[in-house]
Amino acid sequence: MTDIIDLVRAGAPAEELAAAPLPATTRAVFVRRDEQAMFEGMASADKDPRQSLHVGEVPLPELAPDEAFVAVMASSINFNTVWTSIFEPLPTFGFLDRLGKESAWGKRHALDYHVVGSDAAGVVLRVGSAVRNWKVGDVVTVQCNYVDDQDPSAHDDSMMASNQRIWGFETNFGGLADIAVVKANQLMPKPAHLTWEEAAVNGLCNSTSYRMVVSRNGAPVTQGDRVLIWGASGGIGSFAVQYVLNAGGTPIGVVSSPEKAAMLRELGCEHVIDRREKNYQFWSDPHTQNEAEWRRLGKDIRALVGDDPDIVFEHPGRSTMGASVFVTRRGGTIVTCAATSGYMIEYDNRHLWMKLKTIKGSHFSNYREAWAANQLICDGRIVPPLSAVFELEQTGEAAYQVHHNQHEGKIGVLCAAEREGLGVTDPELRARVGEDRLTIFRRHN
Ligand code: NAP
Repeated sequence: MTDIIDLVRAGAPAEELAAAPLPATTRAVFVRRDEQAMFEGMASADKDPRQSLHVGEVPLPELAPDEAFVAVMASSINFNTVWTSIFEPLPTFGFLDRLGKESAWGKRHALDYHVVGSDAAGVVLRVGSAVRNWKVGDVVTVQCNYVDDQDPSAHDDSMMASNQRIWGFETNFGGLADIAVVKANQLMPKPAHLTWEEAAVNGLCNSTSYRMVVSRNGAPVTQGDRVLIWGASGGIGSFAVQYVLNAGGTPIGVVSSPEKAAMLRELGCEHVIDRREKNYQFWSDPHTQNEAEWRRLGKDIRALVGDDPDIVFEHPGRSTMGASVFVTRRGGTIVTCAATSGYMIEYDNRHLWMKLKTIKGSHFSNYREAWAANQLICDGRIVPPLSAVFELEQTGEAAYQVHHNQHEGKIGVLCAAEREGLGVTDPELRARVGEDRLTIFRRHN
């Protein structure tokens, strides 16, 4: 391990970090361009991230004026790292090559390896000459919206920017590394009451759910709203449940096991549907949907909360979208950010137009939304759904578990942190939020 990382671990002051030399390389998790066809012809489920995600030393690039080097104490597994690792729907090297054509600084990203990871909690090691709001030694988390602030379309809502990207997915030098490269406008303060690994699992999923069900850019929940949440104990779902509760709404969480249902109830979600127990068959065969089964789900929701959902939090995609559009109440909204089970979606449009429903697309969040979502974590009003922690060397196994839906909530990954449980600087706030509440997902795992 490098000297500067040892200094970070020892809590050295900023001056010492600034005086210590940066290493030429960093340990990182990456996929390789020469392996991007390795799974060709295989079924998705057989494509194994343990084969494609490598851990090794890679060179640190030169720092651009608007960037920072961050010592990553912990990171997390997001589904986008699963997509990168199985080269679906496309190998991510195409994204890097496109970025490489945009500018001299962009060129650094178009490499034969792609360092992945879209979350990080850590310490700023260096800032570029144009960085004003952050300095060496700052303790931070990272949000993954990567935008060019010289692009006019990035102003207003930066998620509308024509060249908006997700860091560590559509850019190189991501968070699953000991040292990552970020733009300064990705940095946010680390919640002081959380450990490194608890702080590292929120940036991507928390911000995504915030935009979907809190921000005016999504489908904001108001008091009394009933919200059906697919995958309610998963990454984005577990944040959505908390936001709906905070807004005075009623979440109806869908999960696939009694253990997950118990965990959700402890989080405060009273109404839970176990989709495995109910054995919904929304598709009678790969080409035909079954309206009677959509209706059965609708009845189950009414039996729990007395009416149809005002909002459906969608992301499984092909397997559930027909049902989601059907069960949403007249005038309600289906807000979607993904299509895990398939992106060629089918639903009965009559149920959409005749009942004046809206399908709202949503993608990650802008910096303002990510900042607001992070502040709610800092205030202890949203808790991290950390369920398990892996070493950086075990990233392939961690991604495999997410790929096969064997996890709950979020999986944290220790990068430069020596062990779990470090990084808390506000134990009083931690005690106020409550150890029990902060560890719901770990205790149920
Ligand atoms: P996750 O932790 O794996 O959670 C997804 C949950 O969805 C699972 O826990 C599972 O819950 C449920 N699920 C999976 N397949 C399903 C199916 N066929 N039918 C019904 N439920 C199903 O993943 P995540 O981090 O929450 O991400 C979910 C999706 O959103 C991924 O595709 C990811 O790429 C995407 N995403 C998009 C953005 C964005 O900015 N656009 C941001 C974050 C995530 P049960 O088995 O318990 O029902």
